[in-house]
Amino acid sequence: MSCEICGFKQAVHECKICGRRVCYDDYNTEKGICSVCESALCQICGKYLSISTCISCGRQGCEECLVEISQVEYMCLDCLKKKKV
Ligand SMILES: [Zn+2]
Ligand SMILES: [Zn+2]
Ligand SMILES: [Zn+2]
Ligand SMILES: [Zn+2]
Repeated sequence: MSCEICGFKQAVHECKICGRRVCYDDYNTEKGICSVCESALCQICGKYLSISTCISCGRQGCEECLVEISQVEYMCLDCLKKKKV
């Protein structure tokens, strides 16, 4: 079976988030996830897939790390704290 990301190398790992079978190059052994999920991951906690970006610092964050401040805007918990002080 070939890697589901690059399509030509042999798939040796399975991503624990999306379940894709990927090659060594497209896998982060430390996190156990593929390169696609890694780039979509929350930049704050690094545990979940991001849902949007913080309007203040621009980091992408997951549901846990971002707070909805309007229908289309999110702010991360760090920026929210700074703002209140
Ligand atoms: Zn690959
Ligand atoms: Zn994945
Ligand atoms: Zn997060
Ligand atoms: Zn922020």
